[in-house]
Amino acid sequence: MSQLKNKVALVTGASSGIGEATAIALARQGAQVSLMARREDRLSALCDKIVAEGLEKPIYFICDVQKSQDIEKSVQGTLEKFGRVDILINNAGVMYLGPVEGADIEDWKRMFDINVLGLMNCTHAVLPQMLKNGDGHIVNISSVSGKVVSARSAAYSATKFAVGAFSDGLRQEVAKKGLRVTVIQPGAVATELTDHITDSATQKSVKDWVAGMKALTSEDIANAIVYAVSQPSTVNVNEITIRPTDQAF
Ligand code: NDP
Repeated sequence: MSQLKNKVALVTGASSGIGEATAIALARQGAQVSLMARREDRLSALCDKIVAEGLEKPIYFICDVQKSQDIEKSVQGTLEKFGRVDILINNAGVMYLGPVEGADIEDWKRMFDINVLGLMNCTHAVLPQMLKNGDGHIVNISSVSGKVVSARSAAYSATKFAVGAFSDGLRQEVAKKGLRVTVIQPGAVATELTDHITDSATQKSVKDWVAGMKALTSEDIANAIVYAVSQPSTVNVNEITIRPTDQAF
Protein backbone atom coordinates (compact mmCIF):
# COMPACT_ATOMS: atom_id res chain seq x y z
CA MET A 1 0.00 0.00 0.00
CA SER A 2 2.81 2.46 0.75
CA GLN A 3 5.58 1.30 -1.60
CA LEU A 4 5.50 4.68 -3.35
CA LYS A 5 4.86 6.91 -0.33
CA ASN A 6 6.39 10.37 -0.88
CA LYS A 7 6.89 9.71 -4.60
CA VAL A 8 5.41 12.08 -7.18
CA ALA A 9 4.21 10.49 -10.41
CA LEU A 10 3.19 12.28 -13.60
CA VAL A 11 0.98 10.23 -15.94
CA THR A 12 0.26 11.28 -19.53
CA GLY A 13 -2.89 10.03 -21.26
CA ALA A 14 -4.48 9.57 -17.84
CA SER A 15 -8.06 10.14 -19.01
CA SER A 16 -8.72 6.54 -20.06
CA GLY A 17 -7.42 2.99 -20.43
CA ILE A 18 -3.91 2.16 -19.28
CA GLY A 19 -3.13 5.71 -18.09
CA GLU A 20 -6.24 5.87 -15.91
CA ALA A 21 -5.61 2.43 -14.37
CA THR A 22 -1.96 3.33 -13.77
CA ALA A 23 -2.86 6.58 -12.02
CA ILE A 24 -5.17 4.67 -9.67
CA ALA A 25 -2.58 1.92 -9.06
CA LEU A 26 0.17 4.45 -8.27
CA ALA A 27 -2.14 6.40 -5.94
CA ARG A 28 -3.03 3.14 -4.16
CA GLN A 29 0.69 2.64 -3.51
CA GLY A 30 0.83 6.05 -1.83
CA ALA A 31 2.14 8.18 -4.71
CA GLN A 32 1.07 11.78 -5.25
CA VAL A 33 -0.27 11.77 -8.77
CA SER A 34 -0.39 14.45 -11.45
CA LEU A 35 -2.58 13.69 -14.46
CA MET A 36 -2.28 14.95 -18.04
CA ALA A 37 -4.67 14.56 -21.00
CA ARG A 38 -7.02 16.65 -23.16
CA ARG A 39 -10.44 15.55 -21.79
CA GLU A 40 -10.99 17.56 -18.63
CA ASP A 41 -14.26 15.83 -17.66
CA ARG A 42 -12.49 12.46 -17.56
CA LEU A 43 -9.54 13.83 -15.56
CA SER A 44 -11.83 15.52 -13.07
CA ALA A 45 -13.90 12.32 -12.64
CA LEU A 46 -10.71 10.32 -12.09
CA CYS A 47 -9.57 12.73 -9.37
CA ASP A 48 -12.95 12.28 -7.66
CA LYS A 49 -12.66 8.49 -7.93
CA ILE A 50 -9.20 8.47 -6.35
CA VAL A 51 -10.29 10.82 -3.55
CA ALA A 52 -13.37 8.63 -2.93
CA GLU A 53 -10.97 5.77 -2.10
CA GLY A 54 -9.49 7.92 0.65
CA LEU A 55 -6.26 8.42 -1.30
CA GLU A 56 -4.19 11.57 -1.80
CA LYS A 57 -5.97 14.04 -4.09
CA PRO A 58 -4.34 14.15 -7.55
CA ILE A 59 -3.89 17.30 -9.57
CA TYR A 60 -4.55 17.45 -13.29
CA PHE A 61 -3.55 19.49 -16.31
CA ILE A 62 -5.33 19.80 -19.62
CA CYS A 63 -2.48 18.94 -21.91
CA ASP A 64 -2.16 18.12 -25.58
CA VAL A 65 1.24 16.46 -25.83
CA GLN A 66 1.53 17.82 -29.37
CA LYS A 67 1.94 21.27 -27.77
CA SER A 68 5.23 21.86 -26.00
CA GLN A 69 3.79 24.82 -24.06
CA ASP A 70 1.06 22.51 -22.60
CA ILE A 71 3.76 20.05 -21.52
CA GLU A 72 5.86 22.79 -19.98
CA LYS A 73 2.86 24.16 -18.02
CA SER A 74 1.93 20.68 -16.75
CA VAL A 75 5.45 19.87 -15.57
CA GLN A 76 5.97 23.30 -14.00
CA GLY A 77 2.54 23.12 -12.32
CA THR A 78 3.41 19.72 -10.88
CA LEU A 79 6.76 20.97 -9.60
CA GLU A 80 5.06 24.00 -8.00
CA LYS A 81 2.46 21.82 -6.28
CA PHE A 82 4.50 18.76 -5.27
CA GLY A 83 8.10 20.03 -5.43
CA ARG A 84 9.42 17.37 -7.81
CA VAL A 85 8.62 14.59 -10.26
CA ASP A 86 10.03 11.16 -9.34
CA ILE A 87 8.20 9.07 -11.91
CA LEU A 88 7.06 9.96 -15.42
CA ILE A 89 4.67 7.53 -17.15
CA ASN A 90 4.80 8.41 -20.86
CA ASN A 91 1.57 6.70 -21.84
CA ALA A 92 -0.40 9.07 -24.15
CA GLY A 93 -0.72 7.47 -27.56
CA VAL A 94 -2.84 6.77 -30.61
CA MET A 95 -2.88 3.80 -32.98
CA TYR A 96 -3.89 4.66 -36.55
CA LEU A 97 -3.48 1.23 -38.12
CA GLY A 98 -4.02 0.68 -41.84
CA PRO A 99 -2.23 -0.05 -45.09
CA VAL A 100 0.53 2.26 -46.28
CA GLU A 101 -1.11 2.58 -49.69
CA GLY A 102 -3.77 5.28 -49.50
CA ALA A 103 -3.01 6.17 -45.86
CA ASP A 104 -3.92 9.65 -44.67
CA ILE A 105 -0.49 11.19 -44.13
CA GLU A 106 -2.00 13.61 -41.59
CA ASP A 107 -2.69 10.52 -39.42
CA TRP A 108 0.97 9.57 -39.71
CA LYS A 109 2.06 13.06 -38.70
CA ARG A 110 -0.33 13.16 -35.72
CA MET A 111 0.74 9.68 -34.59
CA PHE A 112 4.44 10.61 -34.68
CA ASP A 113 3.71 13.93 -32.94
CA ILE A 114 1.87 12.18 -30.08
CA ASN A 115 3.57 8.78 -29.74
CA VAL A 116 7.15 9.89 -30.38
CA LEU A 117 7.68 13.63 -30.10
CA GLY A 118 5.13 14.03 -27.29
CA LEU A 119 6.92 11.32 -25.29
CA MET A 120 10.33 12.83 -26.04
CA ASN A 121 9.19 16.35 -25.10
CA CYS A 122 7.64 15.19 -21.80
CA THR A 123 10.92 13.43 -21.03
CA HIS A 124 12.90 16.54 -21.94
CA ALA A 125 10.71 18.64 -19.61
CA VAL A 126 11.15 16.46 -16.50
CA LEU A 127 14.78 15.47 -17.04
CA PRO A 128 16.63 18.52 -15.64
CA GLN A 129 15.08 18.25 -12.18
CA MET A 130 15.46 14.44 -12.11
CA LEU A 131 19.15 14.85 -12.95
CA LYS A 132 19.46 17.54 -10.29
CA ASN A 133 17.91 15.16 -7.73
CA GLY A 134 20.06 12.25 -8.96
CA ASP A 135 16.89 10.17 -8.94
CA GLY A 136 13.97 9.52 -11.26
CA HIS A 137 12.20 6.86 -13.28
CA ILE A 138 10.82 7.27 -16.79
CA VAL A 139 8.42 4.58 -17.97
CA ASN A 140 7.68 4.62 -21.69
CA ILE A 141 4.66 2.75 -23.02
CA SER A 142 5.62 1.11 -26.28
CA SER A 143 3.84 -1.99 -27.62
CA VAL A 144 4.44 -5.49 -28.91
CA SER A 145 4.32 -3.49 -32.18
CA GLY A 146 7.59 -1.93 -30.98
CA LYS A 147 9.19 -5.39 -31.29
CA VAL A 148 7.25 -7.13 -34.04
CA VAL A 149 5.98 -5.63 -37.30
CA SER A 150 2.96 -6.80 -39.26
CA ALA A 151 1.08 -5.64 -42.33
CA ARG A 152 -1.13 -2.59 -41.62
CA SER A 153 0.96 -1.63 -38.61
CA ALA A 154 3.96 -0.21 -40.50
CA ALA A 155 3.44 3.39 -39.38
CA TYR A 156 2.29 2.58 -35.82
CA SER A 157 5.19 0.14 -35.42
CA ALA A 158 7.56 2.81 -36.70
CA THR A 159 6.42 5.08 -33.84
CA LYS A 160 6.81 2.34 -31.23
CA PHE A 161 10.22 1.19 -32.55
CA ALA A 162 11.21 4.85 -32.21
CA VAL A 163 10.05 4.77 -28.56
CA GLY A 164 12.30 1.74 -27.97
CA ALA A 165 15.31 3.41 -29.60
CA PHE A 166 14.83 6.69 -27.71
CA SER A 167 14.34 4.83 -24.43
CA ASP A 168 17.47 2.73 -24.64
CA GLY A 169 19.65 5.64 -25.74
CA LEU A 170 18.29 7.67 -22.84
CA ARG A 171 18.80 4.77 -20.41
CA GLN A 172 22.47 4.60 -21.37
CA GLU A 173 22.92 8.37 -20.97
CA VAL A 174 21.42 8.49 -17.48
CA ALA A 175 22.58 5.10 -16.15
CA LYS A 176 25.43 6.59 -14.12
CA LYS A 177 23.27 9.46 -12.88
CA GLY A 178 20.79 7.54 -10.74
CA LEU A 179 17.93 7.58 -13.26
CA ARG A 180 16.02 4.57 -14.56
CA VAL A 181 14.21 4.02 -17.87
CA THR A 182 11.71 1.21 -18.44
CA VAL A 183 9.90 0.25 -21.63
CA ILE A 184 6.54 -1.52 -21.36
CA GLN A 185 5.40 -3.49 -24.43
CA PRO A 186 1.76 -4.53 -24.06
CA GLY A 187 -0.05 -6.87 -26.41
CA ALA A 188 -3.82 -6.51 -26.85
CA VAL A 189 -5.43 -4.55 -24.01
CA ALA A 190 -9.18 -3.85 -23.94
CA THR A 191 -9.31 -0.02 -24.10
CA GLU A 192 -10.67 2.76 -26.32
CA LEU A 193 -7.53 2.67 -28.47
CA THR A 194 -9.09 0.77 -31.38
CA ASP A 195 -12.13 3.15 -31.47
CA HIS A 196 -9.91 5.82 -33.00
CA ILE A 197 -8.56 3.77 -35.93
CA THR A 198 -9.58 5.85 -38.95
CA ASP A 199 -9.42 3.09 -41.60
CA SER A 200 -12.79 1.40 -41.09
CA ALA A 201 -11.90 -2.00 -42.63
CA THR A 202 -8.77 -2.20 -40.48
CA GLN A 203 -10.72 -1.08 -37.41
CA LYS A 204 -13.23 -3.90 -37.89
CA SER A 205 -10.56 -6.57 -38.35
CA VAL A 206 -8.54 -5.37 -35.35
CA LYS A 207 -11.66 -5.28 -33.15
CA ASP A 208 -12.58 -8.81 -34.33
CA TRP A 209 -9.01 -9.98 -33.61
CA VAL A 210 -9.10 -8.54 -30.07
CA ALA A 211 -12.60 -9.98 -29.47
CA GLY A 212 -11.25 -13.41 -30.42
CA MET A 213 -8.93 -13.56 -27.42
CA LYS A 214 -9.02 -12.86 -23.69
CA ALA A 215 -7.49 -9.40 -23.98
CA LEU A 216 -5.51 -7.92 -21.11
CA THR A 217 -7.09 -5.30 -18.88
CA SER A 218 -5.59 -1.88 -18.26
CA GLU A 219 -5.05 -3.02 -14.66
CA ASP A 220 -2.77 -5.85 -15.90
CA ILE A 221 -0.48 -3.22 -17.43
CA ALA A 222 -0.77 -0.93 -14.40
CA ASN A 223 0.39 -3.83 -12.19
CA ALA A 224 3.49 -4.29 -14.36
CA ILE A 225 4.25 -0.58 -14.14
CA VAL A 226 3.89 -0.62 -10.34
CA TYR A 227 6.26 -3.61 -10.24
CA ALA A 228 8.89 -1.76 -12.30
CA VAL A 229 8.76 1.49 -10.32
CA SER A 230 8.71 -0.26 -6.93
CA GLN A 231 12.08 -1.99 -7.31
CA PRO A 232 15.05 -0.86 -5.21
CA SER A 233 16.91 2.10 -6.75
CA THR A 234 19.75 -0.23 -7.79
CA VAL A 235 17.39 -2.25 -10.02
CA ASN A 236 16.34 -0.99 -13.44
CA VAL A 237 13.72 -3.19 -15.09
CA ASN A 238 14.65 -2.35 -18.68
CA GLU A 239 11.77 -3.91 -20.56
CA ILE A 240 8.52 -5.76 -19.89
CA THR A 241 6.58 -7.47 -22.68
CA ILE A 242 3.10 -8.63 -21.70
CA ARG A 243 0.75 -10.44 -24.05
CA PRO A 244 -2.59 -12.06 -23.32
CA THR A 245 -1.93 -15.78 -22.87
CA ASP A 246 -3.82 -16.56 -26.07
CA GLN A 247 -2.09 -13.89 -28.22
CA ALA A 248 0.50 -15.77 -30.26
CA PHE A 249 2.20 -12.86 -32.11
P1 NDP B 1 -6.79 4.92 -24.73
O1 NDP B 1 -7.32 5.41 -26.05
O2 NDP B 1 -7.75 4.44 -23.72
O3 NDP B 1 -5.88 6.02 -24.05
C1 NDP B 1 -5.08 6.90 -24.78
C2 NDP B 1 -4.75 8.09 -23.90
O4 NDP B 1 -3.88 8.96 -24.63
C3 NDP B 1 -5.98 8.89 -23.52
O5 NDP B 1 -5.93 9.22 -22.16
C4 NDP B 1 -5.90 10.14 -24.38
O6 NDP B 1 -6.41 11.26 -23.65
C5 NDP B 1 -4.38 10.27 -24.52
N1 NDP B 1 -4.04 11.08 -25.68
C6 NDP B 1 -4.30 10.84 -26.98
N2 NDP B 1 -3.88 11.87 -27.72
C7 NDP B 1 -3.35 12.78 -26.87
C8 NDP B 1 -2.77 14.06 -27.03
N3 NDP B 1 -2.65 14.64 -28.24
N4 NDP B 1 -2.34 14.72 -25.94
C9 NDP B 1 -2.47 14.16 -24.72
N5 NDP B 1 -3.01 12.96 -24.50
C10 NDP B 1 -3.45 12.28 -25.57
O7 NDP B 1 -5.76 3.77 -25.12
P2 NDP B 1 -4.74 2.88 -24.26
O8 NDP B 1 -4.91 3.08 -22.82
O9 NDP B 1 -4.83 1.52 -24.81
O10 NDP B 1 -3.34 3.49 -24.74
C11 NDP B 1 -2.33 3.95 -23.88
C12 NDP B 1 -0.98 3.61 -24.48
O11 NDP B 1 -0.82 2.19 -24.55
C13 NDP B 1 -0.73 4.12 -25.90
O12 NDP B 1 0.57 4.65 -25.99
C14 NDP B 1 -0.85 2.87 -26.75
O13 NDP B 1 -0.10 2.95 -27.95
C15 NDP B 1 -0.30 1.83 -25.80
N6 NDP B 1 -0.67 0.45 -26.10
C16 NDP B 1 -1.98 0.05 -26.03
C17 NDP B 1 -2.33 -1.24 -26.38
C18 NDP B 1 -3.73 -1.72 -26.40
O14 NDP B 1 -3.98 -2.85 -26.90
N7 NDP B 1 -4.72 -0.97 -25.89
C19 NDP B 1 -1.30 -2.23 -26.74
C20 NDP B 1 0.03 -1.70 -26.75
C21 NDP B 1 0.33 -0.42 -26.43
P3 NDP B 1 -7.25 12.46 -24.28
O15 NDP B 1 -7.96 11.94 -25.49
O16 NDP B 1 -8.16 12.86 -23.17
O17 NDP B 1 -6.23 13.50 -24.59
